[in-house]
Amino acid sequence: MISDDTILNAASGLRDYTADNLAQMIRIPSLSGEEGPVIGAIEEMARSAGFDEVRVDGLGNLIARVGHGPRVLAIDAHIDTVDTGDLSQWDHDPFSGLIQDGHVYGRGSVDQEGGAASMITAGRILTEAGYDGEWSVYFTFTVMEEDCDGLCWNYLIEQEKLIPEFAVITEPTNLGLYRGHRGRMEIDVAFSGLSAHGSAPERGDNAIYHCSRAALGIEALNDRLAPDPFLGKGSVVVSRFRSSAPSLCAVADGADLHIDRRLTWGETKEVALGEVREIVSGLPSPPGGNAGKPAVSLTMYDKAGYTGTSYPQESYFPTWKIEEDHPLVKAGAATCTSLFKEEPKIDKWTFSTNGVAICGKHGIPTIGFGPGNEIYAHAPNERTPIDHLEKAAAFYALLPYILEEQL
Ligand SMILES: [Zn+2]
Repeated sequence: MISDDTILNAASGLRDYTADNLAQMIRIPSLSGEEGPVIGAIEEMARSAGFDEVRVDGLGNLIARVGHGPRVLAIDAHIDTVDTGDLSQWDHDPFSGLIQDGHVYGRGSVDQEGGAASMITAGRILTEAGYDGEWSVYFTFTVMEEDCDGLCWNYLIEQEKLIPEFAVITEPTNLGLYRGHRGRMEIDVAFSGLSAHGSAPERGDNAIYHCSRAALGIEALNDRLAPDPFLGKGSVVVSRFRSSAPSLCAVADGADLHIDRRLTWGETKEVALGEVREIVSGLPSPPGGNAGKPAVSLTMYDKAGYTGTSYPQESYFPTWKIEEDHPLVKAGAATCTSLFKEEPKIDKWTFSTNGVAICGKHGIPTIGFGPGNEIYAHAPNERTPIDHLEKAAAFYALLPYILEEQL
């Protein structure tokens, strides 16, 4: 087994290398579906770092492996980012990759190319240490997460047959050790009505009124949702309300809601759809029964990635967590205490990650450990401390050894 000091010294010696790699990634804009150029740059980094295998899959994910062992560990970073938002709120160019005062600045520094840069360094440390343990460590640099979290991993597992025994998500945890987060789904509810002249509303059936009652029912549902002790409460919000009518002087013949549902432990797709169906089925029926039956549906995601491949899936992102005494959580905590001489904070993300597919859908035990504070995710003046990058690189490099020792 390699010593903690060997890994810490290596990560410290590669501190500038890690920061420079992150700055390079930040300088290449990489919105979801447009990741080709940044994947090319990371591929180059992985090749020159000496990874044993580097390839790009059909969806455009970059897969870089170290080791030849029979067991499979995946360490994942999504490398797409959200857009910049209002540029006047940024103190520096979001694509500067500025390195100053111990931080790397720019869009993607926290969410989450910082994790990606630390992974490249970890791969280099393992390669230079001649890692040849029982794990094949797959570092995955994945696409389209900001648009459809987990899609990239559904592709890796279902199409590429990359099925890890354990996974690590490198989204920002502020160097805490995370073991889950709420899931989410997107639901559409559509009502049809009967249009009539606006001067004689009694001749028609106004879809807006039906839809409004449903919206108020959703508001009341949000108050009824019960909390989970670890993940907290699920939530439901109407995020869009639309209607149609032949003219502004007519009764609306259609109206629909879009619902953003956050799912806590025990709240599945079936549960959440059932709640909404119950609300709409309990609405007063229209006089004369003109309104069509409201349609409640889960939305689909089917956009193509930068390679032109699409991998359609329902907009359902299952909740996941593993228990605090799970061997993988224990190994993660042992990696932290071994390197940093203190117990990590064991917690959860507020937002969603690729864990929805890896653990939520496919049941593969997953933990999170990543550089940066999530409060900067999707915010102006995003920045990550270089200390975090260095520590995260050391964590990813030591974890395979700890796993081999403990499991
Ligand atoms: Zn993210």
